[in-house]
Amino acid sequence: MPYRAPAADYQFLLDHVVGFDKVAATERFAEATPDMVSAILDEAAKMSNEVLAPLNRNGDLHPAKLENGVVRTSPGFADGYKAIAEGGWIGMAASPEYGGMGLPFSIQNAVNEMMGGSCLALQLNPLMSQGQIEALEHHASDAIKDLYLPKLISGEWCGTMNLTEPQAGSDVGALKSKAEDNGDGTYAISGQKIYISWADNDFSENVCHLVLARLPDGVPGTKGISLFMVPKLIPDENGKPGVANSLKVVSLEHKMGLHGSPTAVMQYDGATGWLVGKPHGGMAAMFTMMNNARVGVGGQGIAVAEAAYQHALSYAQERKQGKAAEGETILGHADVRRMLAQMKADVFVARAIAAACAAAIDMQTATGAPEWTARAALLTPIAKAFGTDTGIEVAQQGIQVHGGMGFIEETGAAQYLRDVRVTAIYEGTNGIQAMDLVARKMMDGGEAAYALIDEIEAYAESCKATIPELAGPVFTAAETLRETTEWLVEQELNDRFAGAVSYLRMFARVLGAYYHLCAANAAGLDSARGRLATIYIQRLLPEHGSLADQARQGADDLYALKEEDLVA
Ligand SMILES: Cc1cc2nc3c(=O)[nH]c(=O)nc-3n(C[C@H](O)[C@H](O)[C@H](O)COP(=O)(O)OP(=O)(O)OC[C@H]3O[C@@H](n4cnc5c(N)ncnc54)[C@H](O)[C@@H]3O)c2cc1C
Repeated sequence: MPYRAPAADYQFLLDHVVGFDKVAATERFAEATPDMVSAILDEAAKMSNEVLAPLNRNGDLHPAKLENGVVRTSPGFADGYKAIAEGGWIGMAASPEYGGMGLPFSIQNAVNEMMGGSCLALQLNPLMSQGQIEALEHHASDAIKDLYLPKLISGEWCGTMNLTEPQAGSDVGALKSKAEDNGDGTYAISGQKIYISWADNDFSENVCHLVLARLPDGVPGTKGISLFMVPKLIPDENGKPGVANSLKVVSLEHKMGLHGSPTAVMQYDGATGWLVGKPHGGMAAMFTMMNNARVGVGGQGIAVAEAAYQHALSYAQERKQGKAAEGETILGHADVRRMLAQMKADVFVARAIAAACAAAIDMQTATGAPEWTARAALLTPIAKAFGTDTGIEVAQQGIQVHGGMGFIEETGAAQYLRDVRVTAIYEGTNGIQAMDLVARKMMDGGEAAYALIDEIEAYAESCKATIPELAGPVFTAAETLRETTEWLVEQELNDRFAGAVSYLRMFARVLGAYYHLCAANAAGLDSARGRLATIYIQRLLPEHGSLADQARQGADDLYALKEEDLVA
């Protein structure tokens, strides 16, 4: 069955679950009227379904190749990219001053998911550019903005992010790449970067690398890192791509999946770069890009989850096997029904969390109010980790629904799992996201978390009269989350870290219950959304209890188990 982008689901979420009306009511986003939003979602769905989805298999079967130092992309990717660029989909949320549409991030988030569900490997390219655009808008000099932003926004040039080095993965502060002042406003950048997504292509005029490197007086660790714009071709005096810079793609990785996305080892040999932001302020600038990309990568997980779900459902509607309790296909078996129901329920949760996070980012942009900044910051690691975990879990369940055919490559079910697996690793592993949630995002003593828990409880309370069977468990689960948060903020950091992944998942489970409750309340208990909410609250929400127990274990038992015990 061909992929169908979930435009209607986004419309429902924006209208009834995540409070997009608040965003549209701000002066900043006044142009995002319901008609306009609906037209954009429909148009993006059309392009995703008709232009991008047919490319997905090409990327898997014909990976990007390095030929004589030049990357050759998968068949059809150049045309797909052209459609994305010409449709204006790269610069949706970018500033109109530089050619962007200035739309809410909520809309970009929805469109990105649709593009990712149709062809994840290609969608990673504009995702990188979007992050770079945002980082430049916030941190670059006017000269860099004037030169690079219009090209990145139009898609004539592509953007990448270069953090990782062999000895510096999660620990970015360990990077060794160097930058030396050339004395003419430029810097000479030297070093090796690994795993660089879309480091080159054969369809854009130029590739703009944002590279983290250390100036000679940069202190060790993250505080001594600076950020540089290092283009593949150095723009000439007219802003056109000119001479080649001193950088090259050394090799492309052979990966488990996402084959259509070239992942490169990059070598910089005194390449010409321009400082972005302040000297030694690179991490602050890069964080702008990373936060954007984190929500985007969470969206990649949701995208694949949706596609894998649709694929599995379609198979289950056709495959006949055994005597089912209902109908003639395996969809009539209780266990297959359970798998599909849980997949659909979790896709909804992951999407709602991402949409709520995107709406908070928009409110932060539009109002500058600290409570929205705190809400966006709190939700970002949850959106990234739960979105990508859901991608992996749903893709693997999708294989299970297919039975043996799921293990056979031709069905495409396995590609979803292979492609999505990396999303829990890049842009900060999900373990690092969880640690961010329990440490940095709790530096306020839990205030942002409590504000959200208060909101959930108040909403559940308001639904108790109409749908008590759903509202009651949601309220109780929110109380457990509150107690767990109270316990957590009192602990030493390593005790928090030991329970971080469980805590993040518990948070997502409770948020999921809240958003399902909103959906059931809007659509009615006796509706598809009401029935799905009932399944979620009865079957998946209870997991929050055992997750709370795990979150509160502390680290002692983990260290009581010695390294020798693990080896024995
Ligand atoms: C396909 C692909 C594309 C990528 N694209 C890009 C890109 O475009 N640009 C870029 O710069 N990078 C990119 N990366 C790199 C990616 O961001 C890193 O792989 C990731 O940050 C993890 O770093 P690492 O691989 O060195 O793993 P490590 O940091 O070695 O981590 C190994 C394990 O240890 C855990 N761990 C590490 N430190 C801690 C800690 N302090 N506390 C607890 N646990 C910890 C991790 O969670 C993980 O489970 C890409 C990677 C891949 C595979």
